Amino acid sequence: MRYISTRGEAPPRDFEGVLLAGLAEDGGLFVPETWPSLSPAEWRALRGLPYAEVAARIVGLFTGGSIPPDALEAMCRDAYAGFGHAAVAPLVQLDARTHALELFHGPTLAFKDMAMQLLGRLFDHALTKRGERVTIVGATSGDTGSAAIEACRDRSNLDIAILHPLGRTSAVQRRQMTTVLSGNVCNIAVEGDFDDCQDLVKAMFADAPFRREMHLSAVNSINWARVAAQIPYYVVSALALGAPDRPVAVSVPTGNFGNVLAAWAARRMGLPIEHLIIGSNRNDILVRFLLANDMSARPVEPSHSPSMDIQVSSNFERLLFEMLGRDATATAALMRGFRESGRMPVPDAAWRSTAALFRGAALDDDATLAEMRRVHAATGWLPDPHTATATAAARALAPADPGIPVIVAATAHPAKFPDAAERAVGLRPALPARLADLFEREERFAVLPRDLGAIEAAVRGHALRNAA
Ligand SMILES: *Cc1c(COP(=O)(O)O)cnc(C)c1O
Repeated sequence: MRYISTRGEAPPRDFEGVLLAGLAEDGGLFVPETWPSLSPAEWRALRGLPYAEVAARIVGLFTGGSIPPDALEAMCRDAYAGFGHAAVAPLVQLDARTHALELFHGPTLAFKDMAMQLLGRLFDHALTKRGERVTIVGATSGDTGSAAIEACRDRSNLDIAILHPLGRTSAVQRRQMTTVLSGNVCNIAVEGDFDDCQDLVKAMFADAPFRREMHLSAVNSINWARVAAQIPYYVVSALALGAPDRPVAVSVPTGNFGNVLAAWAARRMGLPIEHLIIGSNRNDILVRFLLANDMSARPVEPSHSPSMDIQVSSNFERLLFEMLGRDATATAALMRGFRESGRMPVPDAAWRSTAALFRGAALDDDATLAEMRRVHAATGWLPDPHTATATAAARALAPADPGIPVIVAATAHPAKFPDAAERAVGLRPALPARLADLFEREERFAVLPRDLGAIEAAVRGHALRNAA
């Protein structure tokens, strides 16, 4: 299995090369050169298997010869063994046709664990084989950093340094990062905002001597391996609801477009997903695009669903490439234009085929709280603010045929957003038992000014200590 860039000017790579590179050299994203596809009989054969086994089979279609099947299966078993539910990603039925797919039973209570737990192990495996060591750096406004830290902690060939804006993440989010006291984990609170953190990470990557010296790497959401590791839960849930002998629809709270792209990939591989529904908050660029081919960036506004406070959905480039008939030149031109002007005039035919398959709805903060209240009153099950955008979108936009079940991706545990929960339903959901002592645990983090020299010195000191 080889991977090509959506912008057509980077050399093809194998799975391991794509895993370690992240972004392609031409600025594009890697996609499989050809899509694997399963027959109905092959889908049926996966029904009822343990989650880790399905994950190994599906991800194995994308690793090609890069990873021996036994090693991949062991990594998958290990990755999901620590989840708080034996089914890993259980379905909870909300009404006659709607089912919540709980993706929040991992260590940090958000769906990013589903891919990140496997990614940490894939990295370690590839680096051990090559005899290499890398330093992963990243910036976070909340969920991504903690999922990356949990995935990388105690892995022998990785150091990880995560920058977060001092005093601007929720206490749960901060503590999920800073109470991980593993020797290879470095938390830095930057005296600045999230954009400052992101700029500092970009500046570290742009500092070529530093980048080489530290072997910098990233585990951000454009990494193909993360998309691949998100496909299995759509397979498992669709099979449980009758696929491939019955079509299903999915509804996904969407920010960077990685999660819903994985659902699209499952469809591309032959799983009968009839419709892909997108839940958005007030940062509704994707919904405007689907309704009126209006892909125009506006300033990001904060909302109750912070992991969706995004204007540029980086994984959208992969879908665009497909919808343009895999025309890399056209994709590159549109992406360049979008970067320069903040607008993307997608050709009419490509927009029509996208809008025929994807539907989207956006909720403001009040509507989000009202939806949390409504679902809780009707079912006793409380969606977090991200998931609530998708339950509402599912109700508004589900296929006309009531026989088609709708899978709603439940991307975070409501206890991660206790303030929104309290405003919506008047109670603060309890953290699961394994995290109940989060507020008693010791924290460790450095507080540093918004200064590249100071940050680089801290990252270097951290990496050198561990290499020694
Ligand atoms: C990251 C995240 C999202 C958005 O997922 P994308 O793959 O970026 O579209 C939605 N909900 C939660 C809770 C998240 O952490």
